[in-house]
Amino acid sequence: MDLLEYQGKQLFARHGLKVSSGKPVKTVEDAVAAADEIGYPVVIKAQVLIGGRGKAGGVKLAADTQEAREHAANILGMDIKGHVVRTLWIEHASDIAAEYYASVLLDRSAKQPLVMFSVEGGVDIEEVAERTPEKLIRHHVDALQGLSHEDGVEIARKGGADADVIDGVADALTALYEVWLQEDATLAEINPLIVTPEREVRALDAKVSLDGNALYRHPDSQGLSDSENEDPIERRAKQEGVQYVKLDGDIGILGNGAGLVMSTLDVVAQAGGRPANFLDAGGGSDAEKIKQAVDLLLANDAVKAVLFNIFGGITRCDEVARGLIAAFAEIKPSVPFVVRLDGTNDVEGRRLLQEAALPNVHAAKTMNEAAEMVVALAAGQPVGAGA
Ligand code: GDP
Ligand code: MN
Repeated sequence: MDLLEYQGKQLFARHGLKVSSGKPVKTVEDAVAAADEIGYPVVIKAQVLIGGRGKAGGVKLAADTQEAREHAANILGMDIKGHVVRTLWIEHASDIAAEYYASVLLDRSAKQPLVMFSVEGGVDIEEVAERTPEKLIRHHVDALQGLSHEDGVEIARKGGADADVIDGVADALTALYEVWLQEDATLAEINPLIVTPEREVRALDAKVSLDGNALYRHPDSQGLSDSENEDPIERRAKQEGVQYVKLDGDIGILGNGAGLVMSTLDVVAQAGGRPANFLDAGGGSDAEKIKQAVDLLLANDAVKAVLFNIFGGITRCDEVARGLIAAFAEIKPSVPFVVRLDGTNDVEGRRLLQEAALPNVHAAKTMNEAAEMVVALAAGQPVGAGA
């Protein structure tokens, strides 16, 4: 679960990381009132779950009420790479002497937490990593020992932080590590971590992702999900307890088992198609569950054809077929379906589908065959006789 900048900063503050205080607002009037109260100059920042807001014009300094009003009006409603700005964060503008970079994440291949630090902050860190890898310090942490102040000092020194802020950077790094660890974050990143002319080290930006599976341990964080910016179908799926991720193609995908769904996405892509979603129907095969899944698939207007990929193990293909027939009787989908049934009772399942003669439903035996059929159907081409 990704947090907005200001929510990340609130977590930072709880763990003693220095941030500027500010206020989240949703209207121009509230933005102006907040700016007047905070005192000028202020910075007005778009709160969206995407980076590069500055470059896109979503971060602006305002010297007075009039500028605050102008910028707030311009940024609210702005579309930043497909993310519409509905919330602004107003904070007192900082003077910047230097922009550093700091992050903590889990390095899965090393099986250890990884702290990264660079004095080349404020810019695209991937670029720094590529062009001047020696300027990005990578420090693995022994999870049992944690990150000590001394470790922080060593990282700051290695990275070439100014001598008078080594301690301040070390404090920021250890606090960031605490955020990452105690909040069950998968990523905690600050870009830029600034040094002010008064030589204070402060987080000017925050990018925090929390582990959704650990949210039950953090009742305070449960309310942080950005539900108003969340995709409405994904939100509905979450409420219904279905694993659904929206993608940007036009072929609806459903399978039983996350691994099978992943490979279905691959096979469809290989056949030249673009999946519209990931949907794992899990082990269930009753009509109600299938109807719920079909409803979700078809809630996405972009879907032109659907691939149902079922591998029967414990799930019996004949039951799935019965579920589909019952579900179709109610839903009557208007887009073509390809149904691949393989495994336990697949012959019986395909026979049932054939008997039911559902309009616009095509049976397939193999995954590749199914993928080719659905790609053709999505492109408006005819395929062999329907089931
Ligand atoms: P991002 O573009 O989405 O990463 O948003 P950031 O929060 O990192 O802001 C982008 C840039 O705006 C920063 O790198 C700074 O250069 C600038 N900026 C943000 N806040 C302030 C501020 O308080 N004072 C000054 N002078 N510049 C700021
Ligand atoms: Mn940034």
